[in-house]
Amino acid sequence: MINPTPVSHPYTRAPAASSPATMAGTLRTLSLWLLVLLTVTACGVNPVTGQRELSLISEAEEIQLGRDNYEPTLQSQGGRYYLDPALSDYVTSVTMKVADHSDRDLPYEVVIINSSVPNAWALPGGKMAINRGLLLEMENEAQLAAVMGHEVVHAAARHGAQRMQRGMLVNIGMAGVGAVLAVRDNPYAGLILGGAAVGSQLAMAQYSRSHELEADEFGTRYMAKAGYDPMQAADLQRVFLRLSEGRDTDFISGLFQTHPPSRERVEANERLARRLGAEGRVGREKYQEMIAGIRAQQPAYDLYEEAMRHHRGGENDQALSKINQAVEKIPREAAFLALRGDIRQERGDSRAALTDYDRAVDLYPEMFSYTLGRGLVHRANRNWAEAERDFKRSIESVPTSIAYLGLGDAAREQGRRDEARNYYQVAAQAQGDVGESARRRLQELDG
Ligand SMILES: [Zn+2]
Repeated sequence: MINPTPVSHPYTRAPAASSPATMAGTLRTLSLWLLVLLTVTACGVNPVTGQRELSLISEAEEIQLGRDNYEPTLQSQGGRYYLDPALSDYVTSVTMKVADHSDRDLPYEVVIINSSVPNAWALPGGKMAINRGLLLEMENEAQLAAVMGHEVVHAAARHGAQRMQRGMLVNIGMAGVGAVLAVRDNPYAGLILGGAAVGSQLAMAQYSRSHELEADEFGTRYMAKAGYDPMQAADLQRVFLRLSEGRDTDFISGLFQTHPPSRERVEANERLARRLGAEGRVGREKYQEMIAGIRAQQPAYDLYEEAMRHHRGGENDQALSKINQAVEKIPREAAFLALRGDIRQERGDSRAALTDYDRAVDLYPEMFSYTLGRGLVHRANRNWAEAERDFKRSIESVPTSIAYLGLGDAAREQGRRDEARNYYQVAAQAQGDVGESARRRLQELDG
């Protein structure tokens, strides 16, 4: 059987099949190992709070986990926003100013995700992201510093690792995790396999009340040390609370799902800001100047969202008209071209669909959904060699059940039955339509 992702962590490793005798031995070794682990590392000291706590996951494991899952996690939520490198540099520089004052040295990194959903997240080990949509909701640089300071603390204070230790993540194995993913920005997000889905869970699972208060408190301290006005953190929290009471659905499917706002948080932030003193940099003008580009582009992304809604509803004429307007506004946005490719394919215009997809892949070659989408067009046209090449490229970035199913078809049609069986076996472990199709194909192969 083909293993879709390198399995390198004890908490994702499946037990190997073995005889009862060796199993008993393994269990003894395992208990011994657990005992050693508990006595040796159980009493770690939290680098941020200084409190003693259970610490079963080492720093090296945290960092590795973040590295392994960064790319699949950000791709499953829309991929990188690559159209404005100056904005990316700016967000990085503000984040690093704050991270420099963190109590823990980690390989911090931040990217802007190409999604209108307001959200931000941190993986264990310091890999972070902020969505284009959240940048538009803030007023100044100090507020950006507050949001990123909050995320830095989630990573530095091991909040993600603690959630994993407590078994708060669902054991997803090979099944898709559509329920916890922001599928709005990626139709294939629910089909992501294995280890690559773990990062999305880490990014999208809700933090506890105490972790939120801790992230606010230390995040505000870090941004104040970096020279920003701490009152901006409190002001931003107040805005978030108001939006949550008004049930802003964009926020509720994004930032508030993971970081629930509360009156308690607002009050704690205000008390702290008053103690720290309301001085420091706000940086309103600079911030507004830096986000002017994405503000001007937002109407194009709104058209894209409308096109997606029409496309999902099967109204492809309206979908095409909207996406054409979006492409006209931003011709270099690969997400627009990929969606137009899908729409054109469904309207029976394969040649135009491929032109759009070729351009999308050229603009953003690493993005799994673009190579996957083009592979599906090739599969529909029975261009098996091209389909196979694209499916392989897509699983190098992010493994999905639908790409494995497609690889199975390509291998079968090119007369490589054993290989087809291996691919189908991977896809067959997924839930839903894709898993079912793979199981049927396996029966056909063996029947
Ligand atoms: Zn949080």
